[in-house]
Amino acid sequence: MRALFLIMVLLGTLWSAERHFGFYELKGKEAGSLLFIIGGVHGDEPGGYFAPALITQHYRLQKGSLWVVPNLNFDSIVENRRGIYGDMNRKFASIKRDDKDYEIVKDIKKLILDSKVDFVINLHDGHGFYRSSWENSIFNPKAWGQAYIIDQKNISDVKFGNLDEIASKISRNLNQNLSKDHHSFNIKNTNTQFKDEEMQTSLTYFAITNLKPALAIETSKNISELDQKVFYQLQSIEELMKIMGIEYERDFELTLQEIDRLLEEHGEMSLNGHITLPLEGIRSTLRFVPMLPKGNSFSFSHPLGAIKERADHYEVMIGNRSIAKLYPQRFSGSCAAKGAEVIVDGVSQRVAWGERLLVKERFLVKEQAGVRVNVIGLVTSGRDSQDEVEVKKGMIASRFSLDEKERRYRVEFYSEEGFCGMITAWFEP
Ligand SMILES: [Zn+2]
Repeated sequence: MRALFLIMVLLGTLWSAERHFGFYELKGKEAGSLLFIIGGVHGDEPGGYFAPALITQHYRLQKGSLWVVPNLNFDSIVENRRGIYGDMNRKFASIKRDDKDYEIVKDIKKLILDSKVDFVINLHDGHGFYRSSWENSIFNPKAWGQAYIIDQKNISDVKFGNLDEIASKISRNLNQNLSKDHHSFNIKNTNTQFKDEEMQTSLTYFAITNLKPALAIETSKNISELDQKVFYQLQSIEELMKIMGIEYERDFELTLQEIDRLLEEHGEMSLNGHITLPLEGIRSTLRFVPMLPKGNSFSFSHPLGAIKERADHYEVMIGNRSIAKLYPQRFSGSCAAKGAEVIVDGVSQRVAWGERLLVKERFLVKEQAGVRVNVIGLVTSGRDSQDEVEVKKGMIASRFSLDEKERRYRVEFYSEEGFCGMITAWFEP
């Protein structure tokens, strides 16, 4: 019995995707409609997943609710490919049990069908610029970019079922505020039930055949700037929220410059619970990062944070963007210590592994029995451990900083048998 269970678990692992999507709920104090935002069904369409990632981080609701899945096809996002197991958006009519996308499609369908959901949007970057008549190979009826895609004009007797009217209203408002005239949005009705057999297998068609109003928002692959695509995606979503009576606020101004700044905020990564790496401005390569021989656990504050395991290193990803390469040094032994006592600018503090130390001028790590201290980039002579040494920024070789700006440094702790933990010293600029 137990062996059978084990075999099933193993097969389950072989069959399912490596990374599952994240799910976020934003809820206002006042009850209202629920909009379900799904990003990242296609891994090479970053406008479709960085926009919802910003919503989870920077929006608050007053009225109504949002459900947000920013990274539906996470395995394909980190590879920057449409679908590494095939096109996920063609698996919503039927999917084989041994398809690697099976669990993900099953789970998202269940969420879409939830009785609380009033409207579903699926976010993409499509080819070209959709136009109802042929202009050239980029601007034409076969293109998908800069369009709201509906499967039919309306779903009768369903709240928000007037898809064509809703999409028209969104596009009218968007088209008043374009960065460039040719970015204008149009409505593409695929008439899925009668004309488009392929689209009958899509996420939005699954939704509308189950009486859930849905549309796809497509920015263009031919717009290369990510901030521009995210700008249009967010604007479109905000227009839809207004139509649905969902009230929100965001902690930034909706401009390209602000979006640009937010796209560089990568948050932090926790490794095995005893190292925290700030990812903003991190060096592209870090060496001798203390790790376990296997079974390392990584967690991210950013919804698109992920690790790609390579032959000799680990690549830190935020969506499809490679942020840093970590080269490990392996330790198997254990350590009983949970933190250290540090005197920072004359004040004594107790610091747990993974925490940061804000330093104006100097710090000194107190001696701890059985624990060796190593400030990476600090050279001292005499003792093996660098405790009881007053450390100033100028004493540490700056090329060992964690960040490009040379302000953050690694303070590592070791026992006889292995690695204990790291704290990071952050010097004031
Ligand atoms: Zn797409």
